Amino acid sequence: MTAVLAPVSTDGSFDPLAHKDDLDAFRAEVRAWLEDVVPADWHDRMRGASEADYVAFQRWWFAEMGKVGLATPHWPRDWGGADIGIRHQIIIFEEIARAQAPNPDLFVISLYHLPATLFGHGSQAQRDRYLTGVKERGEVWCQGFSEPGAGSDLASLRTRAERKGDVYVINGQKVWSSYGAFADYCLLLARTNPDAPKKQQGISYFILDMKATGVTVRPIRQATGQAEFCEVFLDNVEIPVADLIGEENAGWTIAQSTLSAERGLIIFELSERMARTLDADLAEAKRTDAAWLKDDQLRREFTKAYSDMIALRLMIRAMMEEVEADPHTVSPTMPTYIKVHFSELLRRYTDFRVRLAGLDGQIKAPIVFGGGHQTGNVMHDFVLSYAWTISGGANEILKTVIAERALGLPR
Ligand SMILES: Cc1cc2nc3c(=O)[nH]c(=O)nc-3n(C[C@H](O)[C@H](O)[C@H](O)COP(=O)(O)OP(=O)(O)OC[C@H]3O[C@@H](n4cnc5c(N)ncnc54)[C@H](O)[C@@H]3O)c2cc1C
Repeated sequence: MTAVLAPVSTDGSFDPLAHKDDLDAFRAEVRAWLEDVVPADWHDRMRGASEADYVAFQRWWFAEMGKVGLATPHWPRDWGGADIGIRHQIIIFEEIARAQAPNPDLFVISLYHLPATLFGHGSQAQRDRYLTGVKERGEVWCQGFSEPGAGSDLASLRTRAERKGDVYVINGQKVWSSYGAFADYCLLLARTNPDAPKKQQGISYFILDMKATGVTVRPIRQATGQAEFCEVFLDNVEIPVADLIGEENAGWTIAQSTLSAERGLIIFELSERMARTLDADLAEAKRTDAAWLKDDQLRREFTKAYSDMIALRLMIRAMMEEVEADPHTVSPTMPTYIKVHFSELLRRYTDFRVRLAGLDGQIKAPIVFGGGHQTGNVMHDFVLSYAWTISGGANEILKTVIAERALGLPR
């Protein structure tokens, strides 16, 4: 593990952002940096890794990306980002996929959900403290929205927050908090007004210090064998009033900003990785003259997946370009449609790969931690694909949203 953790890009020889006015030079610099920094054997090192090694590797990768400004390039310049545009982001994700670089799983809430929340709704003091904490100290965040009995119907959440002087006292339980066991802080929704006329109106949004007295975290082992999720029990936990985000009882509206993060850049990166997998699978099948190339049904399935993948990438690019030009003109259902399309394609394609692998694909094999859906362990990748049809809003619910709001079908 120690060799992987040795810092590599400290001598200033790479500075992709210095070339951002010339897209070809920018791409060349990102590519050269990735070739230098991504350990060729990282998949082997993370295969069946211990939790401690996985977390250390994630922290190392985040720090390396941070040194060249590629951990938070999508953040505005005032908050430590590079303020780069969509074309740069496309290049970064294409090159990351090409290099098969690690997924910075542990930092996903820190990098996307936290800024999506604080940029629009946080106080200056909160942005200064917590965005700097991510960028400079690699602080890990988790999200405490779901509860037993309040997942799809999130507005029914029952965790209670009662103001007592300068603090809110929190009691309740959260569930499915990804990476909660490693998190320093949590984006927490709790009910401040149980008597509000609508349940959405009585919810507030807090920053929870995961080390506060009364916070108990219990990991949940899931179908893949990983324990990414946690239950979080909150027993008379005190949160300072300064850590309320926005106004009291305005949490529901703010939460929509947090959730929108799951349907933008995160899926953009994942779709680039998926595209690379399909291209690599096709090239390998041609190179080895694989039997499935002669099977009409399998060829049809692959071609359908491939064309869906092209459509997905085009949709995401079009949406990101629209957001860049004017965020107010983007159809509110477009991110929802992209999430449904991506997750269903991922399910179908990982299923296809399991069937291609035959019995060999069904042997229980160690997981490559941080390998996303391209670990090479096809059964793991398939089982994990279910995550995306549920997280960020179950697809059944999102399809209802599309039917009612985009297509105007009767309720
Ligand atoms: C990989 C992953 C990561 C996650 N990370 C987090 C996290 O970090 N923080 C967090 O707070 N939560 C997280 N979640 C939880 C996630 O937000 C919930 O699982 C999701 O909102 C669904 O809620 P539920 O699990 O309670 O299922 P339920 O709401 O009980 O739904 C169960 C099933 O019933 C269907 N259903 C429910 N209501 C309806 C309806 N009205 N019409 C049609 N079908 C319906 C659903 O579509 C689903 O198929 C994560 C989940 C996953 C899978």
